[in-house]
Amino acid sequence: MDLTSLIKAKIRDIPDFPKSGILFKDITPLLQDREAFRRVIDCLAERYRPEKIDDIVAIESRGFIFGSALAYKLGAAFVPVRKKGKLPHQTVDASYELEYGTAEIEIHTDGVKKGNRVVVIDDLLATGGTAEATCALVEKVGGKVVECAFVVELAFLKGRDKLKNREIFSLVQY
Ligand code: AMP
Repeated sequence: MDLTSLIKAKIRDIPDFPKSGILFKDITPLLQDREAFRRVIDCLAERYRPEKIDDIVAIESRGFIFGSALAYKLGAAFVPVRKKGKLPHQTVDASYELEYGTAEIEIHTDGVKKGNRVVVIDDLLATGGTAEATCALVEKVGGKVVECAFVVELAFLKGRDKLKNREIFSLVQY
């Protein structure tokens, strides 16, 4: 099966989660399928191997799952972006609008070294607020965002418009 069909077959729609009106894309069946999970990581690794990526900056919490496996595969460092109040050392933060609510995220000030080449990764691109705030954090601490990568893109929410000056890659689109 081609990778797009395999991923789509392994994403479960959960209506009205976490609140009414949201169709939640559940990636846990994809993670449970060892071939699908491996092929997702291998595909991302192939894409970024020529790019000499220093850091994978991943967004809490489902971004960590893909981000850490990708970092390992590329021999890159892993840098977490977390909800405010979770990182123990000195941080910089950003606030943004979500598809469902508002949020604040942060990164360690020493998480990315000046000039480092970064891929930002999350499981899903919705409105783009989280990814745009993450890119801004990476740049605040001196990194260069080479691309933002997602397993799933909800294209109808136009996240690409919010990330308009950035390179975006997604494996499947709805
Ligand atoms: P956004 O900032 O609107 O692009 O939202 C992206 C973040 O919210 C990602 O970390 C996603 O995991 C999560 N998210 C937003 N909408 C959904 C959805 N419909 N299904 C699953 N996760 C979602």
